[in-house]
Amino acid sequence: QAKTKGRGRHAFFDVDLRERTHRRLQLEQDLREAPRRGQLWLAYQPIVDLRTGETTTVEALLRWNHPRYGLISPAEFIPLAEDSDLINLIGGHMLRMATEEILGPRQRYPGLQLTVNLSARQLDDPALVPAVREASQVSGLPPSAMCLEITESALMLDPTAAGRTLAAVRELGARLAIDDFGTGYSSLAQLMTLPLDTLKIDRTFVSGLGESRDAEAIVTSIIAMAHAVDLTVVAEGVEHEHQLEILRELGCDLAQGYHLGRPVPADQL
Ligand code: C2E
Ligand code: MG
Ligand code: MG
Ligand code: MG
Repeated sequence: QAKTKGRGRHAFFDVDLRERTHRRLQLEQDLREAPRRGQLWLAYQPIVDLRTGETTTVEALLRWNHPRYGLISPAEFIPLAEDSDLINLIGGHMLRMATEEILGPRQRYPGLQLTVNLSARQLDDPALVPAVREASQVSGLPPSAMCLEITESALMLDPTAAGRTLAAVRELGARLAIDDFGTGYSSLAQLMTLPLDTLKIDRTFVSGLGESRDAEAIVTSIIAMAHAVDLTVVAEGVEHEHQLEILRELGCDLAQGYHLGRPVPADQL
């Protein structure tokens, strides 16, 4: 398409590409210093029990305040961290922050659970399990109040290695969730071999509820399959009341999304 628009189009494209490459390199470099400079912070999003309406869990989501580019999404910088080995540094930092920050809200809501995201690279890092143990010891947050989320695609990169790490995390007493379920190519049969507690239905299926029969059929069968193997089901990305009603009817256990609460800093929880 660029070709049909002539030479000017190419020139714009090159400038754009150069800028993006520059930004990427700059971010990769700055990310190394970001934890020390206090530029990373966590937003927490409530996960709500559909039967009682109570918030049982909050998910910690990383944010980066970059001095020049402003607020940067984890969708942009987590992949950079994964490519450059920074992910273990950042993952450890995030764990320590989250386990400290949850203590305040937990004084008011003693049963409140914390869930954090792990990336594929952390699954084969031998320092992961010690980092979880240490974060728990330093903060005093019991591992039983923690859940670790791994995306379906990360689990499937090396299911055997993932299984070993997950078993060790489980041994500590923490829970495990599979994130963004339905976007990878795993079968529940494959997943059943892993010691999981929770399955989070990706928001692409949730957003179709009430609009597409396919979405409803898919969500219905995911919930049925998950319950058959005793997994707790969370629906992600609930933006509208009608989605919530359908999910309740379908017997989904928990839900998360802008309609229930946006991610906010710990002191606003
Ligand atoms: P995720 O774990 O699936 O988290 C849910 C994402 O969906 C979050 O995006 C959240 O803000 C967003 N979200 C929540 N409710 C809604 C909704 O109703 N509608 C829509 N459209 N979006 C909603 P966020 O915070 O930008 O994070 C993106 C991804 O970055 C996360 O997806 C997770 O995979 C990754 N991530 C975030 N924090 C960390 C971290 O500390 N470590 C690692 N490894 N990954 C992280
Ligand atoms: Mg998640
Ligand atoms: Mg997700
Ligand atoms: Mg995601």
